[in-house]
Amino acid sequence: MPNIANNPNRKSWISVPEHSDFPIQNIPFGVFLTKEDVVTIGTRIGDCAIDMGALQQLGYFDGIELTDDMFMQDTLNDFISDGKKTWRLVRNRLAELFDENNPKLRDHREHRDIVIFSINDIEMLLPVQIGDYTDFYSSKEHATNVGKMFRDPANALLPNWLHIPVGYHGRSSTIVPSGIPVHRPMGQTLPNGESTPVFGPSRLVDFELETAFITTDANILGENIPVNEAEDYIFGMVLLNDWSARDIQKWEYVPLGPFLAKNFATSISPWIVTMDALEAFRVKGPKQEPTPLPYLQQKGKHAYDINLEVYITPENASPTLVSKSNFKYMYWSMSQQLAHHTSNGCRVNSGDMMGSGTISGPTEDSYGSMLELTWSGQKPIKLSDGTERKFINDYDTVTMKGYCQNGSVRIGFGEVSSKLLPPFVRK
Ligand code: CA
Repeated sequence: MPNIANNPNRKSWISVPEHSDFPIQNIPFGVFLTKEDVVTIGTRIGDCAIDMGALQQLGYFDGIELTDDMFMQDTLNDFISDGKKTWRLVRNRLAELFDENNPKLRDHREHRDIVIFSINDIEMLLPVQIGDYTDFYSSKEHATNVGKMFRDPANALLPNWLHIPVGYHGRSSTIVPSGIPVHRPMGQTLPNGESTPVFGPSRLVDFELETAFITTDANILGENIPVNEAEDYIFGMVLLNDWSARDIQKWEYVPLGPFLAKNFATSISPWIVTMDALEAFRVKGPKQEPTPLPYLQQKGKHAYDINLEVYITPENASPTLVSKSNFKYMYWSMSQQLAHHTSNGCRVNSGDMMGSGTISGPTEDSYGSMLELTWSGQKPIKLSDGTERKFINDYDTVTMKGYCQNGSVRIGFGEVSSKLLPPFVRK
């Protein structure tokens, strides 16, 4: 099945602003609410949201084998479940339909009015019903930095780290789309120099710059996914902010790992960018030394060159860029993560989400968390309004952006942006 949607020369009859993350070569998938309170599956070109439910009703997907209500649902799970061949057929059809030389919809004013919305007139929702959420810990730079601060600078990486894509199971119940504010969590912490803990608002709320991938039905209980097949089960990627309470984390994480410090909120960008759209941005990942065990060995390009940025915006102030990183720094690839995840027969379903782990680069300005950027608060960051931050203050908005750039084509994720509010007050 040729991937004609990626043709870099194609232009759309929908105008696309310069430097848009959403040219006709992207065609991401999402779920949105229209002004008329209709929930639909859709895609985006430039600053237009496209109602794929309406397109299907009007017959624009005829000839592709789809259930009648495939795009009139409030999640993408069924579509993702249909597999790679269907994803590609649908993306190809959308590319053809919105090609500047195709008059079929371009010249049908009545249909255009039904199908196309301004991005400002819709509300993005979670794109999938996330059954299970796993968060990995796959950036060597991040794991080393955290190991230095939380444990032993001389032995920052634990012995398993270079052999296992380390991960833990998170909570899907608190995953929210961009735009939904997040409350500072309450929790138990051990104040410096004390021997008994206290309970109260976390004082060290942090972001973690991550991406996540969304899977299709991958296996049956007991079955493993070989590393060289794992990519077939990955639908696409989003940006992810793994909100973290460092003081709660430090006290609670021994011996079983993160718990309440991590599961109070996880924010994601709402458009899933498909692996097909990211194909042109494959690069080789870091050299893996020592060589992983055979079930994790792979050849070729399995990392992706995705530029990542984090901004902090205090209330009534302009944004300050605080980190520039790149997904290509990840030590373990997504296929290695998925192969490892299923190596014991753990079942992975359509709509499951796997976080990459904080993506820190090699330089101090490329670290993916305030913990690392300020080195545990020792080196505060100055914002453009003159104030300083060690961690995130109430009413700060944290925004993450991500895009790939290759010659003339830019494929982006948009953003995940959310404001930190004071602790929740029960009425
Ligand atoms: Ca994380």
